Amino acid sequence: MAILPITMFGDKILRKKVNKVKIVDNEIIELITNMFDTKRNANGIGLAANQVGADRSIFIVDLSNVEEYEEFKPLVFINPKIVKYSEEQTVFEEGCLSIPDIRSDVERPEAITIEYQDAELKEQTMNADNLLARVIQHEYDHLLGILFTDLVDDEMKKRLKKPLHRIRKRKIDIAYPISKTIDYQLTL
Ligand code: ZN
Repeated sequence: MAILPITMFGDKILRKKVNKVKIVDNEIIELITNMFDTKRNANGIGLAANQVGADRSIFIVDLSNVEEYEEFKPLVFINPKIVKYSEEQTVFEEGCLSIPDIRSDVERPEAITIEYQDAELKEQTMNADNLLARVIQHEYDHLLGILFTDLVDDEMKKRLKKPLHRIRKRKIDIAYPISKTIDYQLTL
């Protein structure tokens, strides 16, 4: 069990399409365990592997801290692929542990269908809507190198330029460990 540094806006690994997981060995199990510890320590509701510097197609979601989701069982998504998006769109304010202190409205499909493998590499299909669909799409984007600040309107993009630059330069004060260099990457 370990809390890993979280990669920040500007870090190269956040802009990379990550590699698929072929086998779930001890290293991958340790990574997933550490991702849950890291997410919990930072009070997040989701975390993608490249947010802890791992070049692997994995993200986790845990909504149990959110009101009305107390019974939520933590989920691990390995090699996910969103195969269906609803036509209905919703706007919701998003934030990101890799882009601290910035929040913005983002428009996304209200519901999705995702195919993925669980921690035993068993094929799974899930339909999700509402907050779960929102978090899944946010984390899935991470694995493709996309950040929520890419999806905001032009005016907001302009407003975010300076705060994003401050994050890139680490001119920020954050309560959880963060990566020290833009080249930070775990070896697995
Ligand atoms: Zn994020």
